[in-house]
Amino acid sequence: MSRRRLVLASANPDKAAEMAEILGGEFELVARPGDVPDVEESAGTLEGNARLKAEAICAATGLPALADDTGLEVDALRGAPGVHSARWAAKSIRPGMPVDEANVAKLLAALSAAPNRDRRARFRTVVVVVFPDGGSVTAEGTVRGHITDAPRGAGGFGYDPVFVPDEGDGRTFAEMSRAEKHAISHRGRALRAMVAELGR
Ligand code: IMP
Repeated sequence: MSRRRLVLASANPDKAAEMAEILGGEFELVARPGDVPDVEESAGTLEGNARLKAEAICAATGLPALADDTGLEVDALRGAPGVHSARWAAKSIRPGMPVDEANVAKLLAALSAAPNRDRRARFRTVVVVVFPDGGSVTAEGTVRGHITDAPRGAGGFGYDPVFVPDEGDGRTFAEMSRAEKHAISHRGRALRAMVAELGR
């Protein structure tokens, strides 16, 4: 079996599309089979959750599996929402409101209620590849930036409309092209580190 064939453990189409774009032709990426149940992300850390997802998909398919788990860590919120980024607004969501919109609204409200005006934050992604022989590779990528006062831009997903990376020109990730985001993003960095690790 080729080591370059990977099943994507993520069922999130935005993440899967980004992973395919970043990895380009380097790997044959296989979509996660539709009949594999969702894995409960119960590990409490990004690495633990990524590992749980990759292990479950590897066990279900018998193929090497790649999982990513991402958190937005905001300084003024002492690292929150962090590992809880995906379901942060779950309890306060209004019927019909998209999850991403609810998460962003909760973030902006939390920051306007925070005692200082510190809006520094970072995205952190951990990727884990699990192989059928039990081996695994882990890699991490981060990008620092700040949270805007209001959402800007129509691209990207999740918290992209309110995150301005330090290495950019003041645009949010949602105002950048996909290639511009991938060049400096947490996910781009984590996946490129993973490729380097696999090539060793
Ligand atoms: P997860 O890795 O799918 O658990 O994602 C955690 C949360 O972070 C979800 O709310 C995602 O929408 C959000 N998220 C993940 N990756 C990104 C990204 O690249 N930009 C903005 N938000 C993201």
